[in-house]
Amino acid sequence: MRRNARLVFMGCLTVGFLFCTPKKGPEMIVEKEPFGKTPQGDIIELYTLTNSQRVQVKIMNYGGIVVSIRVPDRHGTLGDVVLGFDQLDGYMEEHPYFGAIIGRYANRIAKGAFSLKGVDYTLARNNGENHLHGGIRGFDKVVWEAEEVRNDDGVGVRLTYTSRNGEEGYPGTLKATVTYLLTPDNELRIAYSATTDKATVVNMTNHSYFNLRGRGDILRHELMITAHHFTPVDAGLIPTGELRPVKGTPFDFTQPVAIGDRIDGDDQQLVFGLGYDHNWVLKDAGTLSLAATAHEPETGRVLEVWTTEPGLQFYSGNFLDGSITGKGGWVYQKRHGFSLEAQHYPDSPNKPDFPSVVLEPGETYTQTTVYKFLTR
Ligand code: BGC
Repeated sequence: MRRNARLVFMGCLTVGFLFCTPKKGPEMIVEKEPFGKTPQGDIIELYTLTNSQRVQVKIMNYGGIVVSIRVPDRHGTLGDVVLGFDQLDGYMEEHPYFGAIIGRYANRIAKGAFSLKGVDYTLARNNGENHLHGGIRGFDKVVWEAEEVRNDDGVGVRLTYTSRNGEEGYPGTLKATVTYLLTPDNELRIAYSATTDKATVVNMTNHSYFNLRGRGDILRHELMITAHHFTPVDAGLIPTGELRPVKGTPFDFTQPVAIGDRIDGDDQQLVFGLGYDHNWVLKDAGTLSLAATAHEPETGRVLEVWTTEPGLQFYSGNFLDGSITGKGGWVYQKRHGFSLEAQHYPDSPNKPDFPSVVLEPGETYTQTTVYKFLTR
């Protein structure tokens, strides 16, 4: 050993482990840059969250949209695993909720109507005769107030939006907050909360479309969902009210199965959904628990979904049809992305037996969902 090296080695032994451990990567950072202007003249900001493992999440204050999530594959190569657009313009056109916050009510409400405390409410009908994902101008299409967050758990952005009484037909002024946080452990934590001044219904989620391979279809992703039941639907994708056991059906994902293995079967539920477009009944509502795991064998990327919610909508991107060109010129064809939307069951305002989605003044709605990225 040369003299200098020997000195360093001895120094290490003396001063201990602290100074000899490998250098940590860069600090966790959050950066803000302009992303463009809406046709109404609102200035939209893009927030970039980066952790010490180089994982990077971009979120904008229009619709609270997750614009990109760059995570490593099993060789450490970073790739973007969500669908969307390179520029703000793409998000200003009609698109199927890429990356967006959905509210007030994620998923469908039959015939856009419900009654609460003896009053009938009519909502915007934007999905045939039904209400979908908060209506014509839901939380995915509004400009949120944004502020950067830095705390012991990570870096992020806190978004707030006040939805006025009567917006899209919903009662009560709703103050909603969504905090996205990127942790050092490659988790994107999403914490939602809301309060109201009049009884209303709330069910928020995030509508990211994942493709862990970063191109092509999602049919070889192996999916596991921790649910023994799902909520079958009618032809309009409204739950019938039944909780049906998954056992013996193409809806059984209690063990990992490739998404494409059974998707085109003749099960009537698959015919109604044009594939998977259903809500699974999670076992452990109320506590942050593992809801689903998706593994992409070619890249080794794994997504875990943890949530406090009672349901998980697994949508296999059946309505993508090649009419949208997204990031890097990628033409989004049928089943090029899937979403795992942690939520309350669809049409709960009209289904008294489903867990309640009613929020009263003085109460706080909360939900937490974590998208965690790993490799295998
Ligand atoms: C719904 C689909 C819908 C998609 C995009 C999903 O959450 O379940 O039926 O087509 O969102 O709008």
